[in-house]
Amino acid sequence: GIGSNQAMDEVQPVELIQRAFAALALLSDYPLLVSSLWESTPLDCPPGSPRFINAVAAMRPRQLTPLQLLKSLQQIEADFGRFRGPERNAPRTLDLDILSFGEVLMQDAKLTLPHPRMQERAFVLKPLLEIAPHYSIPGMKCPADALARQIVGQGSLTLINFSKSL
Ligand code: ADP
Ligand code: MG
Repeated sequence: GIGSNQAMDEVQPVELIQRAFAALALLSDYPLLVSSLWESTPLDCPPGSPRFINAVAAMRPRQLTPLQLLKSLQQIEADFGRFRGPERNAPRTLDLDILSFGEVLMQDAKLTLPHPRMQERAFVLKPLLEIAPHYSIPGMKCPADALARQIVGQGSLTLINFSKSL
């Protein structure tokens, strides 16, 4: 799960996410599958936070373990100028979360799989369903499309229409 709501130098979130796709592709030994880019209202963020650009990608990680993948994702975040300050959910240049890793269920100080909040976030489920329409969150009976339909009151979530700018 990919998100950005802050530019890095002059590079805007839409461009950062496209660059993140390229970085993730290098970690995958199968072509990266990517969703559209979506623009979403910030949730649980400090007042005045900029809107997010979100996307989801599917990969087959070259790394062996989920923790090794997390480390690689955190290295990419750092390369993209991600700064972790004291404020929770502060604006970020790039956030890369592991939504699920095969059918792995784990709860570790560093990593929880599947991602514990993914089922309640339209900005995760909508892009995810574009690339995996029949996806079910590991350990959950209810398919992700049914979960997505139950979500209400998360502000606006709109598809970014690139054809407008062609
Ligand atoms: P958030 O993504 O919740 O906005 P951060 O990106 O700062 O916040 O992540 C905080 C911590 O969450 C990370 O240091 C990481 O160890 C932990 N974490 C737990 N589960 C996951 C997961 N599935 N994907 C990514 N990070 C995770
Ligand atoms: Mg994160």
